[in-house]
Formats: sequence, C-alpha cells, structure tokens
Amino acid sequence: MPNNQILMIYTGGTIGMQKDLQTGSLVPFDFSQLMEHIPELQLMDKKIDTVSFDQPIDSSNVRPEHWLMLADIIEKNYDNYDGFVVLHGSDTMAYTASALSFMLENLSKPVILTGSQLPIGDLRTDAKENIITSVQIAGSYDNNQPLVPEVGIYFEFKLLRGNRTIKASSEHFNAFDSPNYLPLAQSGVDLKFFKERILPVPDGIFNVHKKLEENVVVVKIHPAITETYLSHIINLPGLKAIILETYGSGNAPTDDWFISLLKKAVDQKSIHIINITQCQKGSIAPEKYETGRKLMSIGAYNGKDLTTEAALTKMMYLLGKNLSKKAIKSAFERALRGEMT
Ligand code: ASP
Repeated sequence: MPNNQILMIYTGGTIGMQKDLQTGSLVPFDFSQLMEHIPELQLMDKKIDTVSFDQPIDSSNVRPEHWLMLADIIEKNYDNYDGFVVLHGSDTMAYTASALSFMLENLSKPVILTGSQLPIGDLRTDAKENIITSVQIAGSYDNNQPLVPEVGIYFEFKLLRGNRTIKASSEHFNAFDSPNYLPLAQSGVDLKFFKERILPVPDGIFNVHKKLEENVVVVKIHPAITETYLSHIINLPGLKAIILETYGSGNAPTDDWFISLLKKAVDQKSIHIINITQCQKGSIAPEKYETGRKLMSIGAYNGKDLTTEAALTKMMYLLGKNLSKKAIKSAFERALRGEMT
C-alpha cells in the first residue's frame, strides 16, 4: 500500500513515563516499553519504524539542540518515509512545533507532534488515541499528495497548526489551544480534514535550516517593570532581539525612560524589538492608541497575532540566516509558514 511508511520519533514526555518508586515523581522510561503498551499499532495499515532519543527527556529540559536533533532525524529519513510522528512532552511542545515549522523549509510531508497528559501505562491514559490518530494523520494522502504538509500538534481529537499553538491546560486532556487559527482537522467518528485551512504542498525543494540564534529574550511588560530591569536586559552581552509581550493591542508605557531605553537598544545596539500581545487571542493594532504608536515609532516590528512561541523561534531562525536588518524586519512581518494572519 502506498504512503504508509511512518517514522515515529520518541523524545520523552509524560506519555512514556512511570513513577520512580523512591521519589514518587514521574520519570521517562525507554521506548521499547512504550511500544509494548500499544499493540494496536500493529493492527494499523501503516508500517511504523521507530527511533528514540538516547536519553528520553521531560520536555522541560528541551533546548534548541534537541530541535536540531529532531530536524536532523527528519532530514536523514525524509526520503524514506511518508510521514513523521514525534512523541514529545506537552510542556514545551508548542515551542518545538514552532521551531520545526521554521527549520523545515518546503516541507511536503506531515510532521505530527503528540504526547499525553497521563502516561501510557495509566488505565485512563489519553496516549493511545493521540498516538493512533497521529499516525493516521501522518499517513493521510490523497492521490499521492499529503493532506497535511505541515508541522502539526495532534491532541485530544484536534489537529492544530504547530506554530499557532499554546499549551493552555495542565490538567485537561484538551491541553492545547490555537487561539488565532482554526483546527486543521477534527477527529470524531470520521477524521475530518479542513483542506481550506491547510497549507498547500510547496513547490520548492525540502531544506533544513540548522542555525538558530539563541541571544533572543522574551520580556513581559507589567505595571511594576523597572528601568533597572530593562536596562540590564538591553545590556546583556550579545543580545540580538527582544520579544516584547505588550498589553492588549500592542500597547506599552510611554514613560521617557522606557521609550528611550528601547530606542537606545534599536539605534545603538541594533537589537530587534518585536511587539506581540500578552493577550491569548487577537492581534496587535499598535496605531490604535498613543501607547502603541510610540513603541512602534522607535522601530519595533509588528508581531501581529503571533504566539510567543512562534515569535521567539521565528526570530531565532531569521537571525540564523545572516540577513540584513531590513530583510529580517520584512520577513518577520509576513507569514512564512502560516504562523500569522
Ligand atoms: N513534564 C511533561 C513534559 O513536558 C509533561 C507532559 O509530557 O505532558 O515532558
């Protein structure tokens, strides 16, 4: 049967954890044990090969080098598989999915991340449905064309665009939300794909970007933010960009010290400042209020409705490409992988 070769990559996360008898905390166990818990996979019409990180990790320990490891595994196996399923902890899954979406240029095969809120060995686990449907999605083709040529997150009956997701709940099975973009697919009695929301198969050649700039910080504005704090941030050695989580529609204080510190960062230190909102839903509209306009007047970029996860990883990716400042701004402010509206 065509289009049925799936590579499952196990990185760790609750899905493959069990209780450490000494501490009572959940720790990752190895992959062979995980597969024993899902005999159903053998009943599927897919041929599933598996590969595991040598050391499965809680995703709170994920670092950019793990994104590189994942991108590398996908690149090396790209021609031999029709789709990829990445088993990953939910805590940083939205960051990994966002990063991969930028690193994997001209992706024309499904890369579906999933995990679970309860370990696979738990009687009430949500892991089985998440894995089985993810495999189904990763192998969904029509006329030799993948239905989802994107990095997605599948969790609790919904497939979301990876770079639009946030982890929204630490206790519900429905752990992820995509506040500014509708689901790409919904699983019920049928698996329904919303084709009009899914990116088209790209024309270009698949290419993996492996250079990510790590000197990017995320700063959340709040009423008690101080000049000392902000000044320390902009004086961080080597700092390249600040993702500024502003209020509402992109608004920030207009105090002289605040604006002049950021202006100094832009003019004297060539630091890129990105304006995104700390609201979960909606976009910035910085021309609406004086408090937004002033921030943009010093040269901040318009992050529109990007999530923090997508803004951070998009900047890390663009800064890794050695582009001019003008080219970075222009690329940042338009959608590269469907990440902004
Ligand atoms: N701490 C876990 C992790 O992210 C939580 C999870 O998998 O749901 O690895």
